Amino acid sequence: MFSPNPVFIPGPTNIPEAIRKACDVPTLDHRSAAFGRLYRPAVAGVRRVLRMDEGEVFLFPSTGTGGWEAAVTNTLCPGDTVLAARFGMFSQRWIDLCQRHGLNVQVIEAPWGEGAPIGAIEGALRADIGGTIRAVLATHNETATGVRSDIAGLRAAMDRAGHGAMLFVDGVSSIASMPFDMAGWGVDIAVAGSQKGFMLPPGLAILGVSPKALAAMDSATLPRAFFDFRDMARACAAGGYPYTPAVGLIAGLSRSIEMLEDEGLDAVYARHYRLAEGVRRAVTAWGLRPCAATADLQSDTVTAVVVPEGANGSDLVKLAADKYGVAFGVGLGEVAGRVFRIGHLGMLTDVMVLSGLATAEMCMADLGWTIRLGSGVAAAQDYYRGSTGIVQQAAA
Ligand SMILES: *Cc1c(COP(=O)(O)O)cnc(C)c1O
Repeated sequence: MFSPNPVFIPGPTNIPEAIRKACDVPTLDHRSAAFGRLYRPAVAGVRRVLRMDEGEVFLFPSTGTGGWEAAVTNTLCPGDTVLAARFGMFSQRWIDLCQRHGLNVQVIEAPWGEGAPIGAIEGALRADIGGTIRAVLATHNETATGVRSDIAGLRAAMDRAGHGAMLFVDGVSSIASMPFDMAGWGVDIAVAGSQKGFMLPPGLAILGVSPKALAAMDSATLPRAFFDFRDMARACAAGGYPYTPAVGLIAGLSRSIEMLEDEGLDAVYARHYRLAEGVRRAVTAWGLRPCAATADLQSDTVTAVVVPEGANGSDLVKLAADKYGVAFGVGLGEVAGRVFRIGHLGMLTDVMVLSGLATAEMCMADLGWTIRLGSGVAAAQDYYRGSTGIVQQAAA
């Protein structure tokens, strides 16, 4: 049932043995002091990963989607306007979630393969003389297209426009894998999940919340119960939790952060860049191209590979799973069939990535696509051999 091969989906990611073991904890009374001893280091670690200097961290038993919901329901009122760009399946799904909550979403359309259109966002904020836009939503890393947006640039544009909207960032597929600077970028809510850069099983929504967003919760009237920050803040201040916490995942989160910091966060980010660059060179050697429109947009955690005319990316994904026991990501939404996705985040080494590239090549050959076996692998090998200075952390 379980393949011994690593997965190459952009989440959930491969789980290091040490983290799997750390999640395996006996039953613990979450109303006892023992829970606080487990919880506090996890929260402190998240603060360091997000680079927060003030505000609160909340860990909900949920996923990234729940994190989106928590962000908007705790800070906004029905009918409030939020500004969001749509340029992939994940930015689309956050917009949809807001609409289902009765928010007025001012949507800026951008081509799939582009990032958050900073100029258009700045223009919309400047045009909002009355200041009705309460929050700007940004998907830092659009996992459907493999596009990274410039959040620092977005913050600068918001400042230039002199607009006081909050900035909410979906960092589910970037946080703990690509540089993220909540304080430096003036992010009001950052959303992450356990199953991507943190290398944990799915089941935790991880949020960093700024003082400005915390202040908004007093006037917010969108209904919320399970995700109410006020309950969480009150319980956590007393060393507890408003309901039963995901104790195993919280224990695993501390171990995950320990591993990330042992390697060094900058080294983790550099490793993701290197792994991604090898994949990009392989894609070029195959005569294909990433979905990301320009090099500066290319994500270091996932590459969406545009397939040859007439081919279907989902065929490759199905064949890889059925014949070789290897998981790649299918194309989603507008790019369904037109791309397949190689996830390269979390616990991965050069050697693991090479195995994924080799498998993709076998599938392309099996499907009759024009491919010379070994061409992409060789391009990645050349790059990995030649890019020195980074010691690969033992994964287990
Ligand atoms: C994975 C992901 C999510 C959330 O997905 P869940 O399945 O709810 O954890 C949200 N945004 C992005 C960019 C993602 O990659």
